Amino acid sequence: MHIAVVGTGYVGLVSGVCFAEMGNQVTCVDIDARKVESLRDGRLTIYEPGLEVYFDRGRRENRLRFTTDLAEALAPADVVFLALPTPPGEDGSADLRYVLGVADDVGRLLAEARRGLAGAEAGGDGAASRPWGYKVIVDKSTVPVGTSARVTAAIEAHGLEAGEDFDVVSNPEFLREGAAVDDFMKPERVVVGTDSERAAELMTRLYEPFVRSGNPILVMDEASAEMTKYAANAMLATKITFMNEVANLCDRVGADVDKVRRGIGTDSRIGPKFLYAGIGFGGSCFPKDVQALHRTAGQNGYDFRILQAVLDVNEDQKRALVPPVLDALADDAGRLDGKTITVWGLAFKPHTDDVREAPAHVLIREFVGLGADVVAFDPEAVETTRATFEREPLEGSGSLSYAETAYDAAAGADALVVATEWPEFRRPDLARVRRSLKPGPNGAPLLFDGRNVFEPGEMAEAGFAYRSIGRPAVE
Ligand code: NAD
Repeated sequence: MHIAVVGTGYVGLVSGVCFAEMGNQVTCVDIDARKVESLRDGRLTIYEPGLEVYFDRGRRENRLRFTTDLAEALAPADVVFLALPTPPGEDGSADLRYVLGVADDVGRLLAEARRGLAGAEAGGDGAASRPWGYKVIVDKSTVPVGTSARVTAAIEAHGLEAGEDFDVVSNPEFLREGAAVDDFMKPERVVVGTDSERAAELMTRLYEPFVRSGNPILVMDEASAEMTKYAANAMLATKITFMNEVANLCDRVGADVDKVRRGIGTDSRIGPKFLYAGIGFGGSCFPKDVQALHRTAGQNGYDFRILQAVLDVNEDQKRALVPPVLDALADDAGRLDGKTITVWGLAFKPHTDDVREAPAHVLIREFVGLGADVVAFDPEAVETTRATFEREPLEGSGSLSYAETAYDAAAGADALVVATEWPEFRRPDLARVRRSLKPGPNGAPLLFDGRNVFEPGEMAEAGFAYRSIGRPAVE
């Protein structure tokens, strides 16, 4: 099959590379010329485990191409994926400017091609050799209910007929950054929202190789497909947030959230996943999708109260380590001037370089604002962090610098904060870390674990003054 993917970010690039790996002919389009040039030159623009092998193979075997020219990608395509950003607008609703803008471009190009073909048949200017025909336009972006109808209208505005010249399908993406390639190659389910049998058949044919183990391709109406994506993300964000609130209460009553997690996770109705307490969720999806669903509810006269609570609790949770750090290190004015704080982890979660809405960034802003010098380390997310703070500079008298290794970052610091649970932070040489850090107020160096990667008992034995989320300290 010939596929065009418009938008070559996390979702578009992974989708394009994986479709090519299944033998399809894929052209990825992006307006960012630098990105396209880099991909053409064989340099990946995101970090995602396992992506490089398929990317290299797709390019080598000429199944994977990159362009800034939408018309070039559109011409041969049977299926056109829109993997465009849908950032939150000022009121929290999804900003559809990119999706609808490209839908308009697609409509214009399809209409021009049709006119060209008609002209060529009459006058023979050669355009008839271009294989423009029926196309399925797929919303892969996360978009509110009603968007596929708006995409259809934007294309029809150019004189094209849905069902005849094209169909629009909602095909939300469920991949997780950090495991995106695995998730895309072996999805737990594929959701296809369309009333068109022709489009459903094409989509089923495209996705069948990905669900050979028997996972379902669920064909449903567009509105339900669009809602499914938001409901899934909102449910997951709620599950995390619920557990964070349980942890906050555990802290106050002397219970251990890890034991509670195991206690409830063994109930098959609850399940063991997504029950880990920490300093909150971030990323490009949960915060914006919860906001957007809350907004959709409001626009439809429904106050989806639990979602506002999730957003509020999560904002506080990102700062959960600030009070204990201040208790240990602040001067009488409540400031951290002259203190050095090491932050391990910048990405919003492990195995990605994505720092959008990362809790680590919130902590860094707080510490620098209070006068601390922060030294950060992350295996993948230093460059994306640099770029973020260049765009939105830090405020305050403190500073931020980066270290080459986790150990270098800890050298001479007054406290170590773990903000992302990268595997390499789980089993460091603790004696070396302890020697690197300065002694805390009670003699033992301070370690604040925002992701509960260490065991409190082991950390006490290793000589740290250790605090985590929802677990009693062991002295
Ligand atoms: P992204 O910002 O990484 O990528 C979007 C790309 O679109 C960028 O490369 C940008 O240059 C390009 N673009 C913008 N306007 C364009 C235009 N007119 N023509 C061509 N390209 C254009 O975004 P993402 O993380 O890949 O997310 C895309 C969508 O998928 C969003 O709706 C998101 O909510 C959804 N989604 C994301 C994830 C995830 O984990 N990142 C998972 C599931 C769904």
